[in-house]
Amino acid sequence: MSSEELKFRDPSLVRRVVERIREVAPPYEVRFCHVCGTHEWTITHYGLRSLLPENVDLIAGPGCPVCVTPASEIDRAVALALEGVTILTFGDLVRVPGSRTSLHDARAQGGDVRVVYSVGDAVKIARKEPSREFVFFAVGFETTAPSTAIEVLKGPPENLSFLVAHRLIPPAMELLLGIGDLHIDGFIAPGHVSTIIGMRPYEIFPRAYRMPTVIAGFEPLDMLFAVLMLLRQIREGEARLENEYTRSVTWEGNEKAHKLMREVFDVVSGYWRGLGRLPNSAFTLKDELSRYDAKIRYNVKVEGSRDILPGCLCHLVMIGKIKPPECPLFMKACTPQTPKGACMVSTEGTCSIWAKHGVER
Ligand code: SF4
Repeated sequence: MSSEELKFRDPSLVRRVVERIREVAPPYEVRFCHVCGTHEWTITHYGLRSLLPENVDLIAGPGCPVCVTPASEIDRAVALALEGVTILTFGDLVRVPGSRTSLHDARAQGGDVRVVYSVGDAVKIARKEPSREFVFFAVGFETTAPSTAIEVLKGPPENLSFLVAHRLIPPAMELLLGIGDLHIDGFIAPGHVSTIIGMRPYEIFPRAYRMPTVIAGFEPLDMLFAVLMLLRQIREGEARLENEYTRSVTWEGNEKAHKLMREVFDVVSGYWRGLGRLPNSAFTLKDELSRYDAKIRYNVKVEGSRDILPGCLCHLVMIGKIKPPECPLFMKACTPQTPKGACMVSTEGTCSIWAKHGVER
């Protein structure tokens, strides 16, 4: 039996890893930041924070792709829907607030907004209804961008264009390091994004920032091993890039996906909800593919977009500066049924995850 198989079959392994964590944890407070909604779900669902020593904290960074999609992009999609263009996108995004209204509200006002499960579905729908104009609202990190790229390269039907709002994870991690009072002692990097981009883009964190960084999978034991690996680095006074998720992540990542993304997208600065504009953090369609770019095809101008509604502290939750219960609206005015911010709308949002698990502190 390999060590990977053993990880999932030995029921006493969790106890032993937690014991090792307690042995190697330093006597002072350390904070490890992940940037992944699925990691937050695993941590919260399995109560992993409660297994750790009190001075070892896990904080959630901007890892929810729907949450970081700026209001300006949603405003643009809403405007298109109200002008008669059919918007196709993922379910979570439909209820995320724009500056004034969401795509869900646009639908109530007569706009045609449809939920799809993949960009491939969007292509099929557009082919079936050639007399309608469709826009696929493409959000997500490096995990979903290759699927968008494939469909663009295949040559979508003329009545389909793309509102591209894909964002890249490593620049957001770099931003967090510039926020001095976050006091991050290590990064847990997301396994699925890393499966695509590989380990190389994280090299900068230990090399330039002396920040221990471990790529982790999504099982509870993956997370606990990642914490142990980070604590060991701290104990040894080292900052290394390590890969806990060896069953999926390689140094170079998925070469085919890289090639697809290089052929279709340019990397540009991008606006992130609550975080502002980050250099080299967004994909845009290359000039030679601009005929598929909905921003160019429809030239819809949106102005004065507002990312965070009054009272919502999503911008602080998304950088791990506060935890959801520190927002005065959490589970009072803002619940999964009455969300005030993107972090409560999306199933990958930290507020939503904490609310659904009844975590109150
Ligand atoms: S609880 Fe609601 S209002 Fe508060 S930060 Fe989260 S989404 Fe915003």
